[in-house]
Amino acid sequence: MEDIGEALARVRERIARAAEEAQRDPNSIRLVAVSKTKPADDVRRAYLAGQRDFGENYVQELVEKAAQLVDLPDLRWHLVGHLQRNKVKSALEVVSCVHSVDGTRLARELGKRAAAMQEDPALRERARLSVLVEVNVGGEAQKSGIAPAELGPLLETIEQEPALQLSGLMAVPPHTPDPEGARPFFEELARLRERHGGVARLPELSMGMTHDLEQAVLAGATIVRVGTAIFGSRNHSVAPQ
Ligand SMILES: *Cc1c(COP(=O)(O)O)cnc(C)c1O
Repeated sequence: MEDIGEALARVRERIARAAEEAQRDPNSIRLVAVSKTKPADDVRRAYLAGQRDFGENYVQELVEKAAQLVDLPDLRWHLVGHLQRNKVKSALEVVSCVHSVDGTRLARELGKRAAAMQEDPALRERARLSVLVEVNVGGEAQKSGIAPAELGPLLETIEQEPALQLSGLMAVPPHTPDPEGARPFFEELARLRERHGGVARLPELSMGMTHDLEQAVLAGATIVRVGTAIFGSRNHSVAPQ
C-alpha cells in the first residue's frame, strides 16, 4: 500500500487543484482524515505527516483510538457518524467537533453535557463544542440527517445552548457512480445555508469524500472528510452501532 504521508500529499493536491478551479483559497478548506476501521498507528503516521484533524464514525472506536494517541495533544477529533444520545457523555470527553447533529433532543443533550463538563474544575478549560447539523439532502430513508424543512427550529435550538457553537451544515449525498452526480446535492446544502443566515451564521459546509471531494470544493465546501484516499480501502464493513 502507498505510504500514508504520500497519500495525504496527493489528497491535499486534489483539494488545491479544485480550489484553484473554483478560484478559492486552498487554505479555506480543511481536511478531516476519516480513520474509521484503521489502527491508531495509521492515525499517528498521518499526524507525523502534518495532519491534525481526524474523523471517526463510532464513539466507542473514537474513544479507544484517542486513548492510544493522548500523547498528541493538538490532534483534533471530529465525530462524523450518527450520534446516539446515550453516547453523548463519552463522546464529549474527546471530540472537538460533532458533524452529525440531526435532532433537537440530541442538540439539547449535547448542550447540557457540554455545559456540565465546562463547569467541572477537574476537566481542562474547554472551548464551546463546535457542532454542525447533518442534513439529509437526498431524502433517503436509510440515512441520518434532518429534513431540510426542519432545519430552522434545530438551528435555533442549538443557538439557545450556551455551551454549543453552531458552526455549519454537513451532508452525505446519495452515492452516484459519477462524482458529478453529487454536485446538485452539494449545491442544495450551500443553498440551505443561504436560506438560513448565510456564512455569518453557518461558516462551515462539511461535504465531499474520497469519491467527490472536487465537486464539493466547487460547490463551496470548507471541510472535506476523506478516508479511503488517505488510509486505503476499508477491508471490513463497520457494524451498525
Ligand atoms: C466514511 C466516511 C467518510 C470518508 O469516506 P471515504 O469515501 O472513505 O473518503 C466521510 N464522511 C462520513 C460521514 C463517513 O462515514
